[in-house]
Amino acid sequence: MKLLEERIRRDGIIRPGNVLKVDSFINHQMDITLFEEMAKEWKRRFAGKPVNKILTIEASGIGIAAIAAREFQVPVVFAKKAQSINLDADNYVTKIRSFTHGREYEVIVSRKFLGPWDHVLIIDDFLANGCALMGLLEITQMAGAAVEGIGIAVEKGFQEGGRLIRQKGIQLESLAIVESMDAETGEICFGSREGSDE
Ligand code: 5GP
Repeated sequence: MKLLEERIRRDGIIRPGNVLKVDSFINHQMDITLFEEMAKEWKRRFAGKPVNKILTIEASGIGIAAIAAREFQVPVVFAKKAQSINLDADNYVTKIRSFTHGREYEVIVSRKFLGPWDHVLIIDDFLANGCALMGLLEITQMAGAAVEGIGIAVEKGFQEGGRLIRQKGIQLESLAIVESMDAETGEICFGSREGSDE
C-alpha cells in the first residue's frame, strides 16, 4: 500500500536491533485518517470472507483494529495481557514472547467473546518473528473459531513470521513489507508477496 510505505519512509525511524519506530503515526500518536485507508484496503483484500469478528492484541494493535472493525461492521476483541491472578476457566490463555521487550507474557481472551460461532480476522500493527500471531492463532484454535485471514500494517519481511504464517495456508495481507532497512543511512526497501495485488 503506497500510502503507508510513503509514510514509513517519511516518518519511520530505524533503531538498532531491527526495530522500526512508527511512534508518530501508529504506535503512540495515531493517524486515524491513515488507519481508515488501511481498513478500506483490508476490506478490499478480504472481500467475500465471512468475517464476523476482529481479534487483536493489547496494546498497539487496538487502535488499528478498532478502525478496521468499523469498516467491517463487526465487534473487535483484544487479547489482554494478564497477571496469573486473572487466570480461570472463563478464559482462553496462552503465552507470547515479545519481540520488542524480549520477555514472555500471558494473554487471555474471555470465552464469552470468542467461540466456534466466530469467523475471525486477526489484525496487528507489526509482524516480526510471528510470536504474537502464533499466540492469537492458538487462542482461536482453543475457541474453535475459524480464521478468515490476517491483516498486518507493517511486516518485516526479513524476519521469519510471514513465511511461517503463509506456510499454514492462511491469507496474510501486510500493507507494507519492509525487505531491508539500514539504521545508518535510513534507507528502507519495500517488497511484496504473492496475492497482495501490488
Ligand atoms: P512478533 O511477535 O511477530 O515477533 O512481533 C510482533 C509484535 O512485536 C508486534 O505486535 C509489535 O508490537 C512488536 N514489534 C515487532 N517488531 C517491531 C518493530 O520493528 N517496531 C515496532 N514498533 N514494534 C515491533
